[in-house]
Amino acid sequence: MVCGGILNGYEKFSSPSLLRCLSCGMLFAQQRPSRVELEQLYTRDYFKSGDYQKPGYLDYQYDEMLIKKSFARRLKVIMRFVASGKLLDVGCATGFCLEVAQELGLEPYGVELSSFAASCAQERFGTHVFCGELPQADFPQEWFDVITAWDYIEHVPDPVEAIQHMHALLRTGGILALTTPDASSIVAKLTGARWLGFKEQEHLCYFSRENLAFLLKRIGFSVVSLGTTGKYVDGALIIDRLGHYNALLGRLGQRLLPSTIKKASFYVNPFDIVFVIAKKINN
Ligand SMILES: [Zn+2]
Repeated sequence: MVCGGILNGYEKFSSPSLLRCLSCGMLFAQQRPSRVELEQLYTRDYFKSGDYQKPGYLDYQYDEMLIKKSFARRLKVIMRFVASGKLLDVGCATGFCLEVAQELGLEPYGVELSSFAASCAQERFGTHVFCGELPQADFPQEWFDVITAWDYIEHVPDPVEAIQHMHALLRTGGILALTTPDASSIVAKLTGARWLGFKEQEHLCYFSRENLAFLLKRIGFSVVSLGTTGKYVDGALIIDRLGHYNALLGRLGQRLLPSTIKKASFYVNPFDIVFVIAKKINN
């Protein structure tokens, strides 16, 4: 993958049906879903699962304010490098990032595979939102000033190809910003197979900070910022996630925390999501 081919082969990784590349350490799912299988996964139910145990989001649209706050925080960091112009959000879901980008003065465009989510985004942004896979969208080459891909590359069967497409769509000097679970993070190492970053069916590959930076350089980017990012969540989600790692803490939280705290928003950063900002330096 990142190494560009099968140099030394693969070994089985102890976590849910993953292989680890012996050359670059990248983890990836043994089975790659087809386009039809992806469409069957990213339905309305994915965005409103109603159950923390199911794939996707409990209620993506209910969490609108929290999600937008998280995007605004990241976009303000990006805008230190590019303050205006066209932004493409790849995997834009229902368009929350596009709304925030517009409020901040950027001209937003989106790509989204899920026809349910894309139709929500199209209600507001019309033809600026393409429903399908990135290579099929006919945006002009070198047209965008900023491309964002939040928690996107781990969901696609070929992340290298996806980043190459983003590179082609950016103008020279344009900025790519993306987030993805960091399999080399301390939380991932401490929690092993129970790491919340591991999501069978949904996540098809796992990067480390090192191999993500390596890949971006190989494709033609200069990495200008490599760190972690958190997100705004409510107290109820924090209790649920604590319960995932420690059942007793989860139960205590459920019983003892008042509902005002369960509904309050907190910025949480477990340092296991890598946030990279990279500048296109050549073709
Ligand atoms: Zn490799």
